[in-house]
Parts: sequence; C-alpha cells; structure tokens
Amino acid sequence: MASSRFTVRQVTAIQMLDVAEARQKAWQQCAGSAVALTAADLPAPDARSEARDLVRALPARIRTVWKRLHWENGKKEVWWRLIQHGVVGAGGHGWAPKKGVGNVCGWLPAQAAPSTVRALQLREHVFWGCAGALEVRRVLQRQLPQGVELLPKHVWLLEPLATELHPLVWAAVCLTALAVMLSVSKQLRRCSGLGQATGEVDRVPALMLEAL
Ligand SMILES: [Zn+2]
Repeated sequence: MASSRFTVRQVTAIQMLDVAEARQKAWQQCAGSAVALTAADLPAPDARSEARDLVRALPARIRTVWKRLHWENGKKEVWWRLIQHGVVGAGGHGWAPKKGVGNVCGWLPAQAAPSTVRALQLREHVFWGCAGALEVRRVLQRQLPQGVELLPKHVWLLEPLATELHPLVWAAVCLTALAVMLSVSKQLRRCSGLGQATGEVDRVPALMLEAL
C-alpha cells in the first residue's frame, strides 16, 4: 500500500510540474507579447530581459490579486486567463479567427500566419488594439500624470506605472480595464454596422465606472 501511495504522489508531483512548466511558458509568452507591442512605439532596450523581469514579478502580483483584493473570483478571471493565454474569444487556447474574417473595427489577423500566431495576434488585438481597448486606454491615460505613458505591461502584468500608485488600486483598475476591453470586443464582433459599433465604444467610460 505504502509503495502505491508513493507512486500516486510521484505521479501527482510530475503532473504538477507539467502544469507549472506550461504556466511558466504561457507567462513568458504573455510578457513577450506585452514587450513586443511596446517595441512598435518605443525603443525597447532589451526586450528579452524586460520580459524575464516581468515574469519574475508575476507571482507577487498574483498573490496581491488573490489574497488582498477582496473581489469575487469571477472579476479576477479575465486577468488570470489572459496571462495563461486562456481567454475564450481572445485567442485563448490557441483559438484563432478564420482567415479572411474581419471585425467591424476593420482588424484582420495576418493572413499568412499560422493559427497559433493568429491566436496571439487576436489576444493583442482584443486587449490592446481593438476600438474598445483603445477607448479604455484613453480613459486610463487621461487619469495619469503628464509624461507617463500607459503600456501593455502595465495593464496585462499589473506593473505599477507610478510609485505613488498603490499596487492594489492599480490591480483593481487593470482587472476592470481588461474585463471591459473583452466585453466591448465581443460586442463589436456582433455589430453589423459602424453606427452600432460606435455606440458600443461610447459606453466604455460608463462600463469602467460601473465595474469599479
Ligand atoms: Zn477589434
């Protein structure tokens, strides 16, 4: 009996290792995406080491969200899924939009790219480039001190962007921002015309206030 118990424990340990490894890979990919998105606008001194630092800081951020932010788990889920690349409808689990199928916002993933790449592009779009995400970014940017630019690492990895900002407050703002980005992006996919889409985007400030 003792030996079979030991085996079960061993197997469980191996499975847990696999999970931890997969998670670590997903975090690296997420941080890599966040840094790469920035590199398009700003010169990144060393993208790899920046992504590595972001991943290293992540466990502490996760603890902050899970232990200190007293919100129901449902409100934390989008962020948790985002960092594991598991957001349904935003490239999660490798789900990519069909080739040639566009959004009312005018965005299309790279046609020549394999589906794994298109899935990552969809995540970047939903949580950074889509019309709803742009509006969320504008709302946040307006609240920031002059000269501070909101970057994907701030919102995706909860990297505080100013020292005077409490990490818990910033985490709550980011979780809200991400949830609104996702919900508006999903709504936009259902829109048939630009007028309807503009209406969805116009709701962003109210949605942010409601969620906070
Ligand atoms: Zn879009």
